[in-house]
Amino acid sequence: MKLVVMKFGGTSVEDAVAIDRTARIVSGRRAQGVVPIVVVSAMAKVTDHLIAASNAAGRGDRAGALAISARLRHRHHDTARKLLTQGPTYVETPDFCEISEWIDKHFESLDEIFRGLAAVGELTARTSDLVVSFGEQLSSRMVTAGFATRGLDAVHVDSRKCIITDAQHGRAIPNDAVIENRLAETVLPLLRDGKLPVMGGFIGSTEDGVTTTLGRGGSDFTAALVGGGLNASVIEIWTDVNGIMTADPRICPNALRVKTISFEEAAELAYFGAKVLHPATILPAVQKNIPVAVLNSRNPQNEGTRITALAAHCRSPFKSIAVKRRLTIIDVVASRMLMSHGYLKSIFDVFDKHKCAVDMVSTSEVSVSLTVDSNEKLPEISADLGKIADVKYEGRKALVCMVGEDIRGQNGIAAQVFQAIRHVNVRMISQGASEINMSFMIEEDDVEEAVRSLHAAFFQDPDPEVFDVEARAAAIAETVPK
Ligand code: ASP
Ligand code: MG
Repeated sequence: MKLVVMKFGGTSVEDAVAIDRTARIVSGRRAQGVVPIVVVSAMAKVTDHLIAASNAAGRGDRAGALAISARLRHRHHDTARKLLTQGPTYVETPDFCEISEWIDKHFESLDEIFRGLAAVGELTARTSDLVVSFGEQLSSRMVTAGFATRGLDAVHVDSRKCIITDAQHGRAIPNDAVIENRLAETVLPLLRDGKLPVMGGFIGSTEDGVTTTLGRGGSDFTAALVGGGLNASVIEIWTDVNGIMTADPRICPNALRVKTISFEEAAELAYFGAKVLHPATILPAVQKNIPVAVLNSRNPQNEGTRITALAAHCRSPFKSIAVKRRLTIIDVVASRMLMSHGYLKSIFDVFDKHKCAVDMVSTSEVSVSLTVDSNEKLPEISADLGKIADVKYEGRKALVCMVGEDIRGQNGIAAQVFQAIRHVNVRMISQGASEINMSFMIEEDDVEEAVRSLHAAFFQDPDPEVFDVEARAAAIAETVPK
């Protein structure tokens, strides 16, 4: 059995049209003889709305929470109607009536929770998990029904029966061994019977049956857990872009699709802002050497990007350029600290105290520059730092991060990078920490210029094994007047 986990994100199930397209993609895979298991996110933006509603209820704003809930109820009914009824008059089929009743039942219990929360005026992490879990509970049921009416033999599997976690609500840690057993008990028999299991991503439960979630964006994590637990041949992450690109196409119109990238490279990129997927979440797959493919459900013919444990050899040193904007540089200078120890510790203690994450650090004997991506705690942080050193900060900075395994041990790469952007003022540089990334800070206003220059310097003659060169050639041909 060639098992493939197919995970569809929120935009791939956002309405009836998207779910219909998703059904066709899954049918296509089955026609190729593979055995799919489907994992779905909540419909696009539903998780955000559920969080907003539970926060409103927790503040005592009952009407606000119920209004959001009413809109979500309407959206799910509307989607189910378009998905499960036929013709312009929407004749109500038994499938539709069943799911429609089910949706109502769920929204009634959700509203009960909101009323309770508003009365108590307090939202716990445990209740928040229960509320947000409705997004995936609803989408997975609806997708199952939609698939079933399209001849796909779909069976709904409640993820909370398989994805067993600890009780850290909001970011629960899965128990791999138990999950493997549960998947073998509930999902494997369905697959052997030729059924198509459909499960919600993101949600799980403790051994005692209390609903938990795996953290925002956690459906990718579910896909990796299911793929890892069942030893799938590949895990497909279906989203709405053509995979990972060499640069942001909005900045660089001739950016190329990266056909294959290593897990480590993808991890560096994700941290620095490439939002295609969060690689930490696919770790269970990588540890078992299961490749992960990022694919576009609006353009299913496209091969997307394949993420593998080891990188293919690549002629160009870099795979991709990522940018993180809206950063602030904090310069800390303390001459009296010269030659003394414990200096860095005392600085980092301040950031720790204010729970502020630091992105990049550069140090000299008496000064340290750090960057942070949130200005929220800046006044408090500089007041505390001011007790041990002189502090200055400057906002509107951006971090450019160039990633590629093939820069390891290569000479002259830094010279090429800084030659390409010689006209741009570089404020901080960091290389070496991960060996596969070279990062530096520039002014936000210089980002476009810097990325285009770097892209021109390093992706002029791209390796066709690693980058989708044909797409660029086709785009150029299109712009040439006939
Ligand atoms: N629906 C969840 C979220 O928006 C999980 C996911 O989509 O991966 O965070
Ligand atoms: Mg996602």
